[in-house]
Amino acid sequence: MVVGTLGNKSPDSNRFTLVTPKSENDVRLQATLGNQNPTGLPVGAVRTRDLPAEYKRKMIMLGKTKGKQLTEHLSEYILFDLETTGISCYRDQVIEISGVKVKDGKITDEFSSLVNPECPIPYQASLVNGITDDMVADAPLFNAVLKDFLIFAGDLPFVGHNIASFDMKFIYRDSEKYYKEIPGNDYVDTLKLSRICLPALKHHTLTDLAAYYGISTIGAHRALNDCRMNQAVYEKLGAALAEKLKGTDKCPRCGNLLVRRSGKYGSFLGCTGYPECRYTANIKS
Ligand SMILES: [Zn+2]
Repeated sequence: MVVGTLGNKSPDSNRFTLVTPKSENDVRLQATLGNQNPTGLPVGAVRTRDLPAEYKRKMIMLGKTKGKQLTEHLSEYILFDLETTGISCYRDQVIEISGVKVKDGKITDEFSSLVNPECPIPYQASLVNGITDDMVADAPLFNAVLKDFLIFAGDLPFVGHNIASFDMKFIYRDSEKYYKEIPGNDYVDTLKLSRICLPALKHHTLTDLAAYYGISTIGAHRALNDCRMNQAVYEKLGAALAEKLKGTDKCPRCGNLLVRRSGKYGSFLGCTGYPECRYTANIKS
């Protein structure tokens, strides 16, 4: 396996000599650049941020650490969705994965593939998503599809509905299983955003949110349709979040939004990065 940071360019060739990798990022960088260095920077000074956009986007974020959950309206992201054989991240398998690449609120690219789960799809699951055994019989295995999806995603953050407690678990589990590494992409969960921005709403399913914002729900529960629907919802939630952010503070520790919470001793400001970030502050009167 070829690993290493960009080393010195040897005078008589266009190849870069590899040196010992210092970090996971160095390994990814080397894998991305191959034997070319488009930056023209002195060797050893190449940082991800110096790379042209097309190289940055080619970075596959596989490594040892999970990404952070963000509470933000992003301008560039991958909104994705999985369909599975059921709701258990111990027993169940992915049968479809779709994603849309978004820049400044517009979909610029789409990814979608059925997946052969190598097990029967329970009738109950087919009822929800309409995906049957016949449909996935000739589909590729998730080992190959997940890799393609991660290449499609590059280093963009993920956005999805209920992904913190569902989809990300499947992604981490199967990345670990197939590649012995997990994607480090940060992610935004629109379920969490919805609970922050629309606290009066009783239910926060994706179809509830689409209905709330008057977005079409035709074709719901197939991954790519759900992505397009959720993308429109996320842009609306983003606007609601910006409205909510007006005059409020961001967490000095992690940059997430601080919201009013009530506890035993009255109201306080708590970080929406909770439970990863436990920052709290008194409400300024
Ligand atoms: Zn925080």
